[in-house]
Amino acid sequence: MRQSQLFTKVSRELPKDETSFNAQILIRAGFIDKLAAGVYTYLPLGLKVLNKINNIIREEMEAIGGQEILMPALTPKDNWVTTGRWETLDVLFRLKGGDEREYALGATHEEVVTPLAQKHTFSYKELPFAVYQIQTKFRNEMRAKAGLIRGREFLMKDLYSFHADEEDLNRYYKIAQKAYFRVFDRVGLLDRTYLTFASGGTFSKYSHEFQTVTEAGEDTIYICDDCQIAVNAEIIDEQPGCPNCDKTELREAGAVEVGNIFKLRDRYSKPFDFNYTNETGERKIVEMGCYGMGPSRLLGTVVEVHHDDRGIIWPEAIAPFKIHLLSLAARPDDRVSEAANKLYVELVNSQVEVLYDDRAGLSAGEKFAAADLIGCPIRLVVSERSLKDGSVEMKRRTEQEAALVKLEKIVKVLSS
Ligand code: ATP
Ligand code: MG
Repeated sequence: MRQSQLFTKVSRELPKDETSFNAQILIRAGFIDKLAAGVYTYLPLGLKVLNKINNIIREEMEAIGGQEILMPALTPKDNWVTTGRWETLDVLFRLKGGDEREYALGATHEEVVTPLAQKHTFSYKELPFAVYQIQTKFRNEMRAKAGLIRGREFLMKDLYSFHADEEDLNRYYKIAQKAYFRVFDRVGLLDRTYLTFASGGTFSKYSHEFQTVTEAGEDTIYICDDCQIAVNAEIIDEQPGCPNCDKTELREAGAVEVGNIFKLRDRYSKPFDFNYTNETGERKIVEMGCYGMGPSRLLGTVVEVHHDDRGIIWPEAIAPFKIHLLSLAARPDDRVSEAANKLYVELVNSQVEVLYDDRAGLSAGEKFAAADLIGCPIRLVVSERSLKDGSVEMKRRTEQEAALVKLEKIVKVLSS
């Protein structure tokens, strides 16, 4: 994409009334725009990253048999009354429809997915199965000061699994845990993300959170470095040591909950009377699990973790573009411009994702600063100086030193 065509601009100024680092830098670099506290627009660059995160999650959910669906965000009151959560879920946005009926904006989807799955499940032959969606959720969060980490409108991947018995739920729960770590690996957060024991499983002793260590985190966890697992501060009294090896000296750290999985058992199947017929003709309750992950929170967390004082440093798998090509042409018709244009076309034709800074009237310093702020993994610079050597200058965002690469070799180097 040509940067001259990009309708958003980078900004040197810190956005007003935005205190979180991730939102500040994403707004300055032109990835998102803030509409209200906890409510953001994804601009072209930001949406590219979000879509890449979503696709990674999608691939890993499909790999464990998840079938993608899309449920409504507008949900009728009755479903919430059935489970008791119309009264108890404090973050629920409740509203009246024109038909005088009441609705809630979906904050989570057990109330929709349970009766949905019920319509398609009759006997043990249909079980197990899992469905998931990547969808906008609404929560009336008290504190929405952490940028993308805590939105009032945000994206969630929620997968729900349905089983004939507890044993099968336990089997799938472990498979899902592994899939979660594959996602964190691919988005560049694996080395600081811990399987964390948390209270709050309705029918099991623990639920499991996936906590990513960063100063921006609102949660406190206690890490066992031997086992690579952690305990959430909220249960630490109940579970004062490592749940795996009983080590008592745990390391305290701030962290962001990027995922959360629960064995729901019959918490939702019971109120909806969701039963199936087993092999011997008996009616049995369906066992459920739910598995949440926040793509928009992941995006914010990646930025909190991967940056320096000049800007974002995107992991390649989720970068908006792999390459940022800068033309330092003095005029739109000089030989620098011509060489940069030619290289841009070659890269596009070779399916290399490239953002091309072809903007006129900017200094080299301004272009370098914008490239560092936006944070694509590789920067290419075509200038009078590089052309003297028949080359383009190449530098990784993570490195200080640039290297010259011959123009005729660069496409091959980049696409290998
Ligand atoms: P928290 O404790 O941080 O409020 P939660 O436990 O209420 O989160 P879940 O209901 O388990 O969150 O939601 C599943 C996932 O959705 C979370 O692990 C997180 O990644 C994401 N998520 C939850 N709330 C938000 C939010 N307000 N903004 C962005 N992402 C969120
Ligand atoms: Mg949670």
